[in-house]
Amino acid sequence: MADDPILLAARKALSGLMMPDGTPLLGASQVSGPTVSNGRINVSIRTTAEAAAALGEVRAEAEAALRALPKVDAAFVTLTNDDTAPPVLKTVTASKPDVLAGVCHVVAVASGKGGVGKSTTAVNLALGLRAQGLKVGILDADIHGPSIPTLLALHGQPRMGKDRRLLPMQSNGVSAMSMGMMVDAETAMVWRGPMVMSAITQMLSDVDWGALDVLIVDMPPGTGDAQLAIAQGTTLAGAVIVSTPQDLALIDARRGIAMFNKVDVPILGLIENMAHFTCTDCGKQHALFGTGGAEAEAKRLGVPFLGAVPLTMDLRAASDSGRPIVARDPDGPLGSLYTDMAGTLWANLTASTSNTHTDMKLQGA
Ligand code: ADP
Repeated sequence: MADDPILLAARKALSGLMMPDGTPLLGASQVSGPTVSNGRINVSIRTTAEAAAALGEVRAEAEAALRALPKVDAAFVTLTNDDTAPPVLKTVTASKPDVLAGVCHVVAVASGKGGVGKSTTAVNLALGLRAQGLKVGILDADIHGPSIPTLLALHGQPRMGKDRRLLPMQSNGVSAMSMGMMVDAETAMVWRGPMVMSAITQMLSDVDWGALDVLIVDMPPGTGDAQLAIAQGTTLAGAVIVSTPQDLALIDARRGIAMFNKVDVPILGLIENMAHFTCTDCGKQHALFGTGGAEAEAKRLGVPFLGAVPLTMDLRAASDSGRPIVARDPDGPLGSLYTDMAGTLWANLTASTSNTHTDMKLQGA
């Protein structure tokens, strides 16, 4: 409805904002919206991957202006990919978010390729850290395949807090936020490096994470521009690499390690997932993808080996049910394996950060 009072207020709130080339945001050819639906305002700005960083400032300003409006439940200004969008004039380098004052350590969980169990590992490590009495958050940055909502049985959308920042959702004692709660899958599918970075920076800065000992970031799989942008754009205390034993996955894992090395992020550990299969009928262990490859590789590369997780039906069933194995069976063989690996990770993390010259907190701490 053209005369919807929220829509009118939204247009008014955006009326003073300018694109980096000096033209008004409202009416710019690459801007769609504002649209209003159920108290939620959306604006999207089409841009190319290369030009996305320059739009970060106006995007944030527009979103803040919309969120300050009364009777608005949520407002999102998103950058969407369009290679035909006009270029923007000003070049801005991605800056590090300065709002994670309460977060002590940000740790990436990464894999060279998809489907190796990275998200399963991230969630169970988060719960394992929580079992040590730590305050833990998990940020699902796997924007092309966000699975944390399923793994933690989180439904619906996050609520807005007092200062109009989103409150992470809670599950099994950890705070969680996922791209899957913020944007629809089709929009996110076409995002590339800088846009992914911009969306993730938004999830870091627009979410009230509160005081956390560790924020686990479930990274998008692979070692392309998006991953590099995240590794560069957030001050990571370290990274955990997940790999299956196959050579191919290990080659990818090596690429992951090289990428973090390039941006001086320490590798806190390598985890071998789907290491062997224990037959439910005969009880024998079968090394479907070979054995020991990840541990040998960790030694060769001089990175800590955190452990080998078997391929089991229990783990998959627990993941699918929204109750991760560490929550479902904390003292069972898998639950204690993850808790032990989380303990080693925490030890490596605290040793690594006390060895470095700067506090690894994100800026503003
Ligand atoms: P990624 O994040 O690397 O894409 P996921 O964690 O989503 O991988 O796992 C992919 C699938 O494999 C999921 O169905 C998950 O339940 C299953 N899975 C992961 N690790 C194991 C394991 N050790 N044993 C059995 N199934 C597993």
